[in-house]
Amino acid sequence: MQRSFRAKWILFSFASIIVLAAIWLFSSPSQSQTQPNGGRVPKYVFLFLSDGGGMAHMEIARQYSRQIHNEGFVIVDKIIKEGSVGVMTTHAADALSTDSAAAATALAGGCKANVGALGVCADGTLTVSAMELARRRGMRLGLVTNATIYDASPAAFVCHVPNRRDYAAILDRYLDLEPDVILGGGKDQFLPKSASGSRRPDEQNMIATFEKKGYRSVANKPELEALSRGKVLGLFSLRDMSMELDRDKSSEPSVYDMTRATIRVLHDQNPKGFFAFIESENIDTASHLSDIASVIHDYREFDRAVGLAYEFYRKYPRETLIIVTSDHETGGLGFTLALKDLTSTKGENQLVGTGEDLKKIQSIRISLQKASQMLGRNPTGDAVDKLMTDHFRGFTLAPEFRDAIVKRQPVSRTLFSDPTAQALGAMIANNTQAYWQTSAHTNQPVLVAALGVGAERFKGYYDNAEFGNTLKKLMEGKPAK
Ligand SMILES: [Zn+2]
Repeated sequence: MQRSFRAKWILFSFASIIVLAAIWLFSSPSQSQTQPNGGRVPKYVFLFLSDGGGMAHMEIARQYSRQIHNEGFVIVDKIIKEGSVGVMTTHAADALSTDSAAAATALAGGCKANVGALGVCADGTLTVSAMELARRRGMRLGLVTNATIYDASPAAFVCHVPNRRDYAAILDRYLDLEPDVILGGGKDQFLPKSASGSRRPDEQNMIATFEKKGYRSVANKPELEALSRGKVLGLFSLRDMSMELDRDKSSEPSVYDMTRATIRVLHDQNPKGFFAFIESENIDTASHLSDIASVIHDYREFDRAVGLAYEFYRKYPRETLIIVTSDHETGGLGFTLALKDLTSTKGENQLVGTGEDLKKIQSIRISLQKASQMLGRNPTGDAVDKLMTDHFRGFTLAPEFRDAIVKRQPVSRTLFSDPTAQALGAMIANNTQAYWQTSAHTNQPVLVAALGVGAERFKGYYDNAEFGNTLKKLMEGKPAK
């Protein structure tokens, strides 16, 4: 009895040593190579955000690329197919559908926030963002957007202010942290009050202030393309930058152009790596206006920008992480089956979207933002008819939408943000079967595509605060769990 107990004890001790040795072996840093990416910190991080871009937005842009241009789609064909995919919920702490500030606070800082708050959790805690952690590691930082550069999504990655409209506090924080690359719109908050186009409350010239800190400032695409190193402040418009359909391609850079410059500048003589946040706000803006053509063109340009990061990843696969995601869905978008008119619900009076509808969308060469601006605040019926003849040939404008434009009335309780654009968006929907449920944000979960070092951590179904915590742990070199 005694001998048998001792034998079991020896056997147990021996087994324990093997188990402990195995645990030690698999948790030791030298084994992170065999356990893919465990505990390793990516040297180069790309976080691409399609603001307002839901899965349907991406899928429609992908279908358009395939059917109209016979082209692939980097996010799907490369990032997802070679990497991993997750699904993320996006609600705010105090609302079922979020705004960009609360969502970006969760993505950057890992906590639930109230609508409007930047880098401040719902319980008042100030988070440390993934980008701030990257700076502590000595990594260079890039903030890139076609929104104003002080807009909620980029700002939440480095700022902590209770109100997303506190632009002065946001710019002061940028000056304090000194991101190496700052590219976007929003020159209005940099110009002194007396300058034309300024929306600053004081006479401070913020461009000069940034230049004193060693930034080179650029204002157009050729100037941006001439830069290859140092710290850069690029302000390319007074407020938001142009939609792809309206952009002057010789003077105003796109998200693709800004991404190319960002990689060039951040990668120059840089032993510690970089963290680049790159956003297409236009996808959200177009969705607020029910503008399917702009969604497609701006999503395709965003995908091209992701393609540049993919090329970079191919050169540095063991050091690079690419994440492509969204802060929320905007518009409740989707191709659907609908009635041609309200005379009958029978099958012959039903229409479903096809490739022909994509061709119709291709014929639109103007954004609804611009169309709405052209019609102005008091559009006449004649002006509406001329707009249809000039820019929407082959489309039919139902009388109720023409009336809504002339009277500047919303076409439904959920389509309200710009009555002119919304009525034109509803007209395009009736002609192409690409329908919008709302002109606001929805609670649809969004996609997280990831490729490279640590990408496997972003698999699964999780909340946006969890995404932020995962990203922060990765930047700290902590294990996933
Ligand atoms: Zn929005």
